[in-house]
Amino acid sequence: MKFIYFKKNTMITYLSFIVILGIAIYSTYIITKTISYHKIVEENEEESICDEEEICEDVSPRKELLIKQYQNKKLIALTFDDGPSKYTENLVDELQKRNVPATFFILGQSAEDRLDTLKFELDAGNEIGIHSYTHKLFTKLSETEILEQIEHTRKVINKVSDKEIQYIRVPYGSRNKKVDNALEKGNLVDVLWNVDSKDWKFKNTSKTYNYVLKKVKGNDIILMHDTFKTSVEAAIKIVDKLLSECYTFVTVSEFYEIKEIVTNQLMQ
Ligand SMILES: [Zn+2]
Repeated sequence: MKFIYFKKNTMITYLSFIVILGIAIYSTYIITKTISYHKIVEENEEESICDEEEICEDVSPRKELLIKQYQNKKLIALTFDDGPSKYTENLVDELQKRNVPATFFILGQSAEDRLDTLKFELDAGNEIGIHSYTHKLFTKLSETEILEQIEHTRKVINKVSDKEIQYIRVPYGSRNKKVDNALEKGNLVDVLWNVDSKDWKFKNTSKTYNYVLKKVKGNDIILMHDTFKTSVEAAIKIVDKLLSECYTFVTVSEFYEIKEIVTNQLMQ
């Protein structure tokens, strides 16, 4: 009897164990199924929200940010004239490390000798504009000569890029009716500036840095030259300081686009 009793107890233990095991397996199955169902639902919900945004929103998140920054007077377009030079690659490299784009108004003649640098500027997400081919004073040239300066430079840029060039910065900012006609024929918009770094005059990193920071008021186009070591050093210091003050850097194209959007919004 003792033996049977023992066997009975063992049987009950075994049966209980099997039942508990069964319940455990079934519960795990149900829980896993529920989790994966919720995951699928969440994924689908996320997808559908993205799709909706893509259809309904015509401004990308970067554009939204730039609009806010422009409204808060926190946009900066950094521009460099007269390059490329032997200092340009280092400048582009440092800007790229900081995810900061700039616009380079190049001299066709200098770029011809530094096509690799020109390509590097473009590949790093910078914008290229025309300064001229040989930095001649446009007001002293004939319309044909001005157009030659433009077209020669365009051809050099086209050796490394098929992007259409929209902007020019006329040497010395010197314009008259004849220059304006040539720019119109060349399909180019002249880009001015409101902060002149005077880097060519100072040729001193600290002086250039301090002068620019005094002049920056927000939503500025800063003029610098990537032909001086001191300008490149000052530019990087300026970028670091302005980034720490929550400014956002844009190309000239972006600057004009955002300015137009905000201006139109204000007029509505
Ligand atoms: Zn120049």
